[in-house]
Amino acid sequence: MDSAIQSAIDSLIKAHLPHWVALRRDLHANPELRYEEFRTAEVAATELASLGYDVKRGLGGTGVVATLPGASGAGAILLRADMDALPIHEACQHEHASRFAGKMHACGHDGHTVMLLGAARVLKELPPLPGTVHFVFQPAEEGGLGAKRMLDDGLLELYPTDAVFGMHNWPSLPAGHFGLRTGPIMAASTRFRIEVKGKGAHAAQPEKGIDPIPIACAVVQQCQTLCARHKSPVDPAVVSICTMLAGETDNVLPESVEMRGTIRALSTRLLEQLQTDILRLCKGVAQSYGAQIDVDYAEFCPATVNSPVETAFCETVLRSTFGDTCVHASVPPNMTAEDFGFMLQARPGTYVLAGGGQDKGLHHPEYDFNDALIPTGVLYWVALASEYFSPHRARETSRINHEEVSQ
Ligand SMILES: [Zn+2]
Ligand SMILES: [Zn+2]
Repeated sequence: MDSAIQSAIDSLIKAHLPHWVALRRDLHANPELRYEEFRTAEVAATELASLGYDVKRGLGGTGVVATLPGASGAGAILLRADMDALPIHEACQHEHASRFAGKMHACGHDGHTVMLLGAARVLKELPPLPGTVHFVFQPAEEGGLGAKRMLDDGLLELYPTDAVFGMHNWPSLPAGHFGLRTGPIMAASTRFRIEVKGKGAHAAQPEKGIDPIPIACAVVQQCQTLCARHKSPVDPAVVSICTMLAGETDNVLPESVEMRGTIRALSTRLLEQLQTDILRLCKGVAQSYGAQIDVDYAEFCPATVNSPVETAFCETVLRSTFGDTCVHASVPPNMTAEDFGFMLQARPGTYVLAGGGQDKGLHHPEYDFNDALIPTGVLYWVALASEYFSPHRARETSRINHEEVSQ
């Protein structure tokens, strides 16, 4: 990057940082759950409008989009932040702790929103870029598939885009460091509910009923065998049954058992295969015991798969902006899920982890976004957009064929 531009960016970030920190703390104190981000969206939209942007509100529920048009039609990129908080009761005592019982910004989406607002400000104040930048503030990343809802509402038709970029703060990486990898960085996931329907009976007369409890145990055990035996050991996947509800007393066999859990896999195809395998397994177990087993899946999310060309590009940007020692270019993937995977199914792009250097992990009731990350995150977005449209860069994009690059 041109050194005059570099120092202009540095001084803009320095000048606006106190405002961004105040904004981040305001959002932290006023967390909103998925699809209820009305105030947060209003804060983002007002900030963007005050910078001179045309702002679209209400895309995908409460989503907000603003566009910085390119000076010479050199393509377009999309930068994405998420806005929602979690149904967690905050245990922090600091001044900007949540004002609402049972709601908390425990995943740092307050910080993500502000870093992208910061980038929108800095890019607006710099000389125009040849290409277009779309700033996307999405609702409901936490279990609401807000990214999918924005796509279903026509995000990419309204805002044509060559590549998409996302970022999440990552407390376990040192502050100022970044982690990324080509291929899957987060898992595909789905939730399931399995109901084993038997027939209640006296505990001393099991022959008069169909006891659903041993049948449910067989399902639990066979799900684990499925993971161990029906897929390649080098293809990561996990099936976890996390609730099991049955019975009311110690001398009655219940009518039914309800189990809830999640499947995660690093490839979307493997997740789909496991969904089918579990259906077949439950059908077989039901048949062998004379019970009925119903399986429902919900909230399917594909793997978050970084495409090769864009990820190599992001790595170059990160190295030149923050130095080699701060860039971890092949971090291990996580079995957590992220609905940015839907955007990466639609367009090539890269999701990076921005180190927060904190003890308390994401979703911990004492977690708080590290404000020291704000200038780092703003600088990353600004450098990425500037370099993407640099005339010196070879104009290439990855094909959208993620499963092939995923392993
Ligand atoms: Zn989260
Ligand atoms: Zn998050």
